[in-house]
Amino acid sequence: MYRLNVKKKKSIMNDRIPQLAGELATEISKELKSDIRKLGKKTFNLGGVHPEANKFAHSAEVVTFPLPDQAVVYMTQHLGAPATPIVQKGDKVKVGQLIGEAQTFMCANIHSPISGTVNRIDMIADISGYKKPAIVIDREGDEWDESIDTTPDIIREIKLNKEEIIARMKDRGIVGLGGACFPTHIKYMLKPEQKCEYLIVNAAECEPYISTDNRVILERTEQCLIGIEIALIASGAEKAIIGIEDNKPRAIAALVEMCKKFTNIEVQPLKIKYPQGAEKQLIKAITGRSVPNGALPISVGCIVNNITTMYVLYQAVQKNKPIIQAYTTVSGKSLPKEQCKIFRLRIGTPIRDVLNAVGIPEDTGKIISGGPMMGKAIANLDAYIAKGMGSLLFMNEKESKRGEVHPCLRCGKCVAGCPMGLQPYLLHAYSNLKRYEDCEKSGIMNCIECGSCSYICPANRPLVDFIRVGKAKTGAMIRARNAK
Ligand code: SF4
Ligand code: SF4
Repeated sequence: MYRLNVKKKKSIMNDRIPQLAGELATEISKELKSDIRKLGKKTFNLGGVHPEANKFAHSAEVVTFPLPDQAVVYMTQHLGAPATPIVQKGDKVKVGQLIGEAQTFMCANIHSPISGTVNRIDMIADISGYKKPAIVIDREGDEWDESIDTTPDIIREIKLNKEEIIARMKDRGIVGLGGACFPTHIKYMLKPEQKCEYLIVNAAECEPYISTDNRVILERTEQCLIGIEIALIASGAEKAIIGIEDNKPRAIAALVEMCKKFTNIEVQPLKIKYPQGAEKQLIKAITGRSVPNGALPISVGCIVNNITTMYVLYQAVQKNKPIIQAYTTVSGKSLPKEQCKIFRLRIGTPIRDVLNAVGIPEDTGKIISGGPMMGKAIANLDAYIAKGMGSLLFMNEKESKRGEVHPCLRCGKCVAGCPMGLQPYLLHAYSNLKRYEDCEKSGIMNCIECGSCSYICPANRPLVDFIRVGKAKTGAMIRARNAK
């Protein structure tokens, strides 16, 4: 008999919720609670799983991390081609000055996160261990580019029009901070036949441990909403809806209260279910619309952007500030709770500095960037902070070890858990057998690599690992066929 870990995986209820609900009960007025209740809770209808939330940094205020003495700024901090360095060794740079230019369509500008002198331009390993082009800057003081408004004043009047906002997004190097780092301006460059009806703002933050969006909402509520107003102008949509899981009651309350000042922005609480923050699942939950396979959200009249991206968009448009900082949750089960923090870090800060500041727990098995469901294990701890690094998580040895793999039990849990309606056990088998045409017929290209199937499998089968490889090979096969 196999020893299955079904029981462990079924103990999925979030033990933080009652406490958070308590916070809601004591800190939020009766009227506001009633307003929130009226909004109801929505979710997507197909599949999904319930990993432990472990939001240990939920109540931690954002802390500004000390400036690094030297910053290593990768030219590949986004989806697409690397930016091209436009500075040389010995050049003096200021904070916010353009140092890497996007010279292809799918690319994003990179700005200096510190002031000082360019030490060198080199190939330096990132968290994957692979060397990437980077600019190394030795810090001298903290002198900002004069064009950037560094005051704490909130600028409410939006003076730029649609085209100017999209140009500003591109100029200031804005990328999606929900994980993919997709250059934001591209999402808003619609074709004449495309129309955006809904701007969907992703505040679901459904990955365990990560609390960055929650804190940015709580500490910068109005700026986030002004950012959404800016994105509404850029998208042409008349309404924005913020989707947020209901394990963030204080953030929901802050948004609902602030939305009273913004007539075209609504809040939609969501049930807790992973992957609630995936684009297609979020659109389904909020609008009831299904994005067809292979299509983008705009095909059903939606643009989706993460809430922290809305905050940096506010900074870009109202303050002319590019992305030079990352907001990073540092957390883990074995990290003392007071050490679970959210840092505001300059891009290019050594990851080692962050790890030394909180202390690596003795039983750490691996450190991952991103959430435990979709994030990646850091292969090189001597790498540097990049734009989209929303978390650094310490997984203890127990969490890091994969359970013994058993033959498939034909239990169907992976099928029931797949939010894309796929048959993960079958895709795993086809990928393993290199039957890529069968992979294609079985819809492998629709897999969003959410990891729900691997998480739920009682036989510990590495489903998503094989599916990811199969998807890459099938994609290559399709491209080769189309090129003929
Ligand atoms: S990783 Fe792919 S196959 Fe597995 S549950 Fe997610 S979408 Fe389905
Ligand atoms: S692969 Fe799917 S069907 Fe097989 S044991 Fe795992 S969850 Fe059950």
